[in-house]
Amino acid sequence: MQAIVTTPGQKGSVHLGEIGEPSGHGEIQDAKGEAAEGALVQVVEVGVCGTDLEIANEGYGAAPEGRQQLVMGHENLGRVVNAPPASGLKEGELVVATVRRPCPERCLPCAAGQSDNCLTGHYTERGIKGRDGYMAQQYLEHPDYLVPLPSTLSRVGVLMEPSSIVEKGLIQAFSIQRGRMPWQPRRALVCGAGAIGLLAAVFLRLRDLEVVVVAKAAPDSRSAQVAREIGAELLDADEHPVAGLGAELGNIDLAFEATGVSAVAMAAITATGHDGVCCLSSVTAGARTVTVDADALNLDMVLGNKLVFGTVNANRKHFEAAARMLGAAVRRWPGVLEQVVTRREPAASFADAFQRQPDDIKTVVTFSS
Ligand SMILES: [Zn+2]
Ligand SMILES: [Zn+2]
Repeated sequence: MQAIVTTPGQKGSVHLGEIGEPSGHGEIQDAKGEAAEGALVQVVEVGVCGTDLEIANEGYGAAPEGRQQLVMGHENLGRVVNAPPASGLKEGELVVATVRRPCPERCLPCAAGQSDNCLTGHYTERGIKGRDGYMAQQYLEHPDYLVPLPSTLSRVGVLMEPSSIVEKGLIQAFSIQRGRMPWQPRRALVCGAGAIGLLAAVFLRLRDLEVVVVAKAAPDSRSAQVAREIGAELLDADEHPVAGLGAELGNIDLAFEATGVSAVAMAAITATGHDGVCCLSSVTAGARTVTVDADALNLDMVLGNKLVFGTVNANRKHFEAAARMLGAAVRRWPGVLEQVVTRREPAASFADAFQRQPDDIKTVVTFSS
């Protein structure tokens, strides 16, 4: 079957190649780590994100043990071909597979089904680290890692993986905040208007917060259009520096940072208001340095009872929560989330999908309909 494969560490080695059908001989494990029967899934489409571009262009990522090549892709949407009867999954049903698999040591979070919090770092990730991804015609996976979706989400289900990351951050922000004080957030700031930033804005609007998105996005861009349609305000980052937004807008109860720029992450902490929470989600793999006014930053955090936390990856329960949020968004703003997927390219044109274009939000590689 066809798959988009790369040799991690070898820049520019990504190509559409032939690989064997998924057989899964002894490779499929359930969430407890026991060998088990898998479900066969036909891939519909797979989103491309910054991580994929890093794997393709910067030599990031790792092939499965003992192999050179890695099947790419983690932001998946597929349909069940066949599944073990006990799984309850039905033929033709839409499913999304989670990405991370627990470490062999089964550290405390991994043993509890929270490999997103793995302590050893020996976890694997499909399409990223040590396990084949989903940019192939089919894949095999244990139903423990497959989240069913209603058919109403067929056009936006490919946004599930980034949605799970956003929803995890928001669930955690709300639960930490409500654990430390009576908290009724009114105003949220989202930094960045890529897929993660826009999804954060959507999920915060669904929670009835006033949402301001600050980004380098033109007023006539697709991102701006989506922000407007969900009732969020979009500010131009060049005219409204993030660090000053607290003073400009009033107390920011929750800030969600998703620009990929560490200097903005530092500014987002400053912008976060009294008793506020700042959720950082940018994976900044570079080596940029910024100078911060450490006394002021510390004083501000202490006197403001501020909380800052980082979040990465997501486990099954966050995927399930993301499916509920996407469902609610599709009902409340019909046709709007679809606009976040700005381009669909067939697998044969994967190279175009891996090339960023100016008005791209989320580009998707399609394998079947
Ligand atoms: Zn991604
Ligand atoms: Zn672990």
